[in-house]
Amino acid sequence: MSADLSLFNREAALLVQEYPELEHVMIQGEIPFVHGQLLLKDEEGDLITEYSIRMEPGPDYPNWFPWVFETGGRIPINIDWHIFENKGNCCIASAPEEALICRKGITLTSFVRFQVIPYFFNQLHRERMGFFLNERSHGNLGHLEFFMEEFETKDVSIVIKLLNEARSRKEPKSNSRCICGSKRKYQKCHRSAVRKIAALTNMELDHYLKIANDFISDRKVPKEDSITNF
Ligand SMILES: [Zn+2]
Ligand SMILES: [Zn+2]
Repeated sequence: MSADLSLFNREAALLVQEYPELEHVMIQGEIPFVHGQLLLKDEEGDLITEYSIRMEPGPDYPNWFPWVFETGGRIPINIDWHIFENKGNCCIASAPEEALICRKGITLTSFVRFQVIPYFFNQLHRERMGFFLNERSHGNLGHLEFFMEEFETKDVSIVIKLLNEARSRKEPKSNSRCICGSKRKYQKCHRSAVRKIAALTNMELDHYLKIANDFISDRKVPKEDSITNF
């Protein structure tokens, strides 16, 4: 798989119209990119701060997020700051979340608005307050936290049941009881969350089921993120 560069270029042209402090750079024979200032504004539209960024198509845009780099040296290249240490790109979402967002369809403009700007607001919060406002763990634990949030449970065994439900590719009858054990009807309980998660491939669901099962059986949760191994 490789990134759709012509799509990236078309969308970058639209992005810079909306964010004129960013510039779209196309050099013959080179990978295109976007760079410049990302402005963070308050509700009144007044500038709070700005970050220097560079955005590249990455290996598989739009199936995965483009790569975003903070180029002003303001954020340490450190996984604890949600910067991947190998490439120096920003860790913007957990892998299953990123897959689902991309599968619904993203554009560079929606990516900047709904992912990149909130990410840098979170960075600013950490810079000023010493901690992130919203934070998920890294790697596999972060993946589990994503599913716990989606399924509104802290119980990994329920996550496993619901992932298996999505993996089965068969829906229970709407008025049957939800498999989570809540005694509520499936349609009023986990149906919409399971439908959302079912957009993941079988291979992905198997991968996350293994992570959840390993977690339950108290085997070590590997720290390394296995983001684009599908
Ligand atoms: Zn991260
Ligand atoms: Zn349920």
